[in-house]
Amino acid sequence: MPITLGCIADDFTGATDLANMLVKGGLKTIQLLGTPSKNDVVPSVDAVIIALKTRTIPVEDAIEQSLQAMNWLKNAGAKQFFFKYCSTFDSTDEGNIGPVIDALMAGLETQFTIACPAFPETERTIFKGHLFVGDKLLSDSPMKDHPLTPMTDSNLVSTLSRQTSQKVGLVEYTNISGGPSEIRKAFNQLQKEDVAIAVTDVLNDEHLYFLGEAVKDFKLITGGSGIALGLPSQLKSHKNHKEETTVHKLPEVLGKELILSGSCSEMTLAQVNEFSKKYCTLKLNPVELAESNSALDKAVDWVIQAKGKEPILVYASAPPDAVKEVQQRLGRDLASITVENALAKIARAAVQNGFRRIVVAGGETAGAVVSNLGIKGIMIGEQIDPGVPTTVSIGNPSIGLVLKSGNFGSADFFEKALKVMP
Ligand code: ADP
Repeated sequence: MPITLGCIADDFTGATDLANMLVKGGLKTIQLLGTPSKNDVVPSVDAVIIALKTRTIPVEDAIEQSLQAMNWLKNAGAKQFFFKYCSTFDSTDEGNIGPVIDALMAGLETQFTIACPAFPETERTIFKGHLFVGDKLLSDSPMKDHPLTPMTDSNLVSTLSRQTSQKVGLVEYTNISGGPSEIRKAFNQLQKEDVAIAVTDVLNDEHLYFLGEAVKDFKLITGGSGIALGLPSQLKSHKNHKEETTVHKLPEVLGKELILSGSCSEMTLAQVNEFSKKYCTLKLNPVELAESNSALDKAVDWVIQAKGKEPILVYASAPPDAVKEVQQRLGRDLASITVENALAKIARAAVQNGFRRIVVAGGETAGAVVSNLGIKGIMIGEQIDPGVPTTVSIGNPSIGLVLKSGNFGSADFFEKALKVMP
């Protein structure tokens, strides 16, 4: 059976967040980590999400990998495509959101799409084209200090315009709240003005349902996982779905428990702090890791020898000043790669030593960890906090995984995640 919705996500935690939304909406969904080879069997599901790690890699590589995923999904029969990026529009003036949208539009031969990172459930709203995180403009939110994609302009029309040669326009909330037909009229008007990508205001969930209806015939939709709220009902009516699919009951996974955190987001720092009050933790020093291999060996030994103290936490997470200092010493890219590689290697050694229940904080970090574990796909289970479900890897050994974007989850998230995991 061909799939209905083919999704391409620019990071692993974001893909999981999207899968969570689609599953909650009743679509049978599978998340694949990376593009499978041509001969891999197409799973019989409604939606396939291909999780990539393309958010901060060079633009040309991001385009190439996204097109490869798009072609795989096309071959699998996808009717509609969704390019998923972060609800805080994580990108730089070089990309990669704009260039990937351009490439997918060309690849799918479509002249018009939307760009809508809004996710009201997690307080990401768009008003007159400006992205808000809670009651702060994006540029005043902690995202201004992100180690890789500091966001300093909240105006999505200007931010995206700097990343694409196509014309970007705006559909304001006044049109959005008028419902699907008003929205379609606004789209038509923008197309007459040669706009190719419409940023859409969204203040609440009703707006997302209206948008879902208005874009139901679009070949390509782009945005955060919030948009997925309004899609399943459209897709199900297309297919005359009768049964209401419930969230997968995941198999129980037994084994030692580990938290790995490479996210420096404000929320993650609070979560690391909260967890540290009760459990054993190890703080990594990126400069030491970059300068000698023995620092990583020591960290691996610490994890393996924790014996009985689990759950344990290994983290590189640090506040903005400390991150800046490390970046000045090592350079931004080496700092990130050093931390990502270290956590990925620790994860691998941990699995070889009986750890089977792993929580990872950080989108880039999760990408590095899951790739190094050689995991090809995950099944999606119950939601722990908005945007973060439990998951279990497909294949052997089965690993219980929770992949959390930096800003998601409550302060007690790590402990809660381990409790909710099957
Ligand atoms: P988030 O989901 O919060 O954006 P990510 O994992 O996507 O988290 O991004 C955080 C980046 O910061 C990663 O590339 C990570 O390797 C890097 N990083 C983590 N700790 C430090 C540190 N102490 N100094 C510099 N960079 C760090």
